[in-house]
Amino acid sequence: MPITLPALPFAPNALEPHISARTFEFHHGKHHKAYVDNTSKLIEGTDLADKALEAIIQAAAADPSKKGLFNNAAQVWNHSFFWQCLKLGGGGKPSGKIAAKIDAELGGYDKFAADFKNAGVTQFGSGWAWLVLKEGKLAIVSSANAETPLTQGLKPLLVADVWEHAYYLDYQNRRPDFLQAFLDHLVNWDFVNANLG
Ligand code: MN
Repeated sequence: MPITLPALPFAPNALEPHISARTFEFHHGKHHKAYVDNTSKLIEGTDLADKALEAIIQAAAADPSKKGLFNNAAQVWNHSFFWQCLKLGGGGKPSGKIAAKIDAELGGYDKFAADFKNAGVTQFGSGWAWLVLKEGKLAIVSSANAETPLTQGLKPLLVADVWEHAYYLDYQNRRPDFLQAFLDHLVNWDFVNANLG
C-alpha cells in the first residue's frame, strides 16, 4: 500500500487569519510531504512495503532499530489526522455526543479548553496535544516529537500540532495564542463526534 500525501481537506487560505496559506504551504507541502517521502523510502523493498500505515507505525514502534521509520510514519499519520481536526468556522463549544461527554467526564467545556491548552503549552519542545479515549473515557494527553497515542492503546479524537513549524510564521513564539485560536475558531467537532463512533 503506497504511502501518499493526502490533499488538505480545505483550501490553503481557508483558515486565514488563524492559520495562513503560507503556513500550509510549508507545513503540508514541505514538512508533511517529507515525512511521506521518507517513510516511502524507508519501507521500500522491506516486508513493511505493502502494509497499511497504522501497521507500519506499530511495527516500527516495537523495534528500536526502526526509530527513524517510526518518527516519519507516525508523523505522516499525525498530520493527516490533524488536517481533519481543522475547519473553517470551527471551534467554540461542541454539540452532539462529545459535548455531553466533555460535560460528564472533563468538567465542562471551559475546563476542557483550559486543560487542552495547558497540555499544548506545557509540552516542552516539539509535540502534540490530544483528546483521546482511554478505556472509553475522555482524557487529555500530550506527546513529544512524533509520539502518537496509537501505540499506547488510546483512541485519538482530536489533536493540535504544537511543533514550532505549525505556528511560527503566524504567531512566532506565541504558542498559547495559536492554541487559543485553534480552540476558538478551528476545531472540527463534527470530525471529533465521528471519531467517537
Ligand atoms: Mn507539524
